Amino acid sequence: MTRQAVRLTAGRVLRSDDLIAGEKEVAAEILRANPDFGNPHAVRCDWCHEIRTLFRDESDGPFKLMERGWLCEPCNIRAASQEIKF
Ligand SMILES: [Zn+2]
Repeated sequence: MTRQAVRLTAGRVLRSDDLIAGEKEVAAEILRANPDFGNPHAVRCDWCHEIRTLFRDESDGPFKLMERGWLCEPCNIRAASQEIKF
């Protein structure tokens, strides 16, 4: 659940949406309290334009976690990923 909160905030930061006051700080605090989470990544396929916000141990949607980065399975190409820092 805490990861989901961070993920939602990360998505808003990425889209430059308006943040609720203190929202970024809450996300940063969760990450500080859970250093094993690491920072979330914006994962994007340039071919099918799917996008997900994933932590470094997650696979979701068309994206399959690889040793380094993610693979968009249906397109069979490496996804672009950007680390999101608060
Ligand atoms: Zn794709």
